[in-house]
Amino acid sequence: MTQMMDIQAGGARARGRCDELGVAPYSDQSDGLFRPYLGPAHRATLGRLAQWMDEAGMSVETDAAGNIIGHYAGAHPDAPVLLIGSHVDSVRDGGRYDGMLGVTLGIETVAYFHSRGLRLPFALEIIGFGDEEGSRFPTYMMGSRSAAGLAQSIDDSVVDRDGTTLRAALSDWGLATSRFGTAKRNNVLAYLEAHIEQAPHLERADLPLGLVRGIASQYRYRVTLTGQADHAGTAMHERRDALAAAAEAIAAIEAIGQRDPVDLVTTVGWLSVENGAPNIVPGSVGFTIDIRAVTPGVRENAAQQISDMLQALSVRRQVRLDIERIQDLTGALCDERLTGLLCKAVEERLGVTPPMLLSQAGHDAMIMAHLAPMTMLFIRCKGGISHNPAESVENDDVEAAFQTMVTFVTRLGDTM
Ligand SMILES: [Zn+2]
Repeated sequence: MTQMMDIQAGGARARGRCDELGVAPYSDQSDGLFRPYLGPAHRATLGRLAQWMDEAGMSVETDAAGNIIGHYAGAHPDAPVLLIGSHVDSVRDGGRYDGMLGVTLGIETVAYFHSRGLRLPFALEIIGFGDEEGSRFPTYMMGSRSAAGLAQSIDDSVVDRDGTTLRAALSDWGLATSRFGTAKRNNVLAYLEAHIEQAPHLERADLPLGLVRGIASQYRYRVTLTGQADHAGTAMHERRDALAAAAEAIAAIEAIGQRDPVDLVTTVGWLSVENGAPNIVPGSVGFTIDIRAVTPGVRENAAQQISDMLQALSVRRQVRLDIERIQDLTGALCDERLTGLLCKAVEERLGVTPPMLLSQAGHDAMIMAHLAPMTMLFIRCKGGISHNPAESVENDDVEAAFQTMVTFVTRLGDTM
């Protein structure tokens, strides 16, 4: 077993760098943080990250999808690659640590080995994905999908809120979707992503770090129930009230989600009453359904139950049912061997066994799982709050994550 040298202060610097990148010119809004894909702030951020990567002994490139990659060579020229990363884009009025902390922690991990002149049986690559949030274009995870070599169909219908096409935005950077295929990473041994938890479980357990069993698969549907618009004086037994039908459906969807409190979550997050007015029996109502679960099969089972419930309700209440699936995002389970190594690394550094968490939020890691085995390290964040300027992490927790990552990389090297 390799003797671990003193590890210190990488966490504070990783966190401080997120703070530096939390304001202009690394943000496209004057107060708070908004760092959308391919905007001026994204460009400035890649310049700063490239400096830090260079100082940490890495060669730096930006790939065809606008992802930044720092490369720290392994002990042999043909050594496989351990990829460490997360996303550099943010939502509007976002937090400083969502995504970016995983990138700056990756840079610190390389800096540790570089400063000691250590080479590993694998190369280390730190990747900062340009688009995860889909906060500029109506897309998601274009960065990791390109790096994982997944096909994407993108045409000129993909525009931002100012009407700029994705094609034009890429062209500004000298990039093109036709070259996304060249962004695929090769010879990847494994993928590691450190990310703030974005939920309050670690805070409640009074623990700085957690492991992840898996990332939820998601289905999203758009539903329309059509009955008959009528005067509010219409007798109760003569109505075909679409909103009353939707209310019953929403309560049933919540109840289905509550049957598996560990894994399944169901949400109706949007509702629209056509021509709604106090004196009209609603004739048509639209709503969305979001279903998420980590364990394979649970999401499908819930979707079937909800579909059966809606069909029965439609017949009984004489409302027409139209249902369309508008999103199907496949989740991923973290690799057991890698997660076991990560668990040992936490135990070695902190002397506690980290809890195993489920991620109901999507992450680049679920895409990278198509390319290589992956695992994730969750870091406690204050109140579980994220996608919000109030997002906050403690230096000690980030330091614990940094030490765990260095230990994980060292121990992974020991296994080879
Ligand atoms: Zn994120």
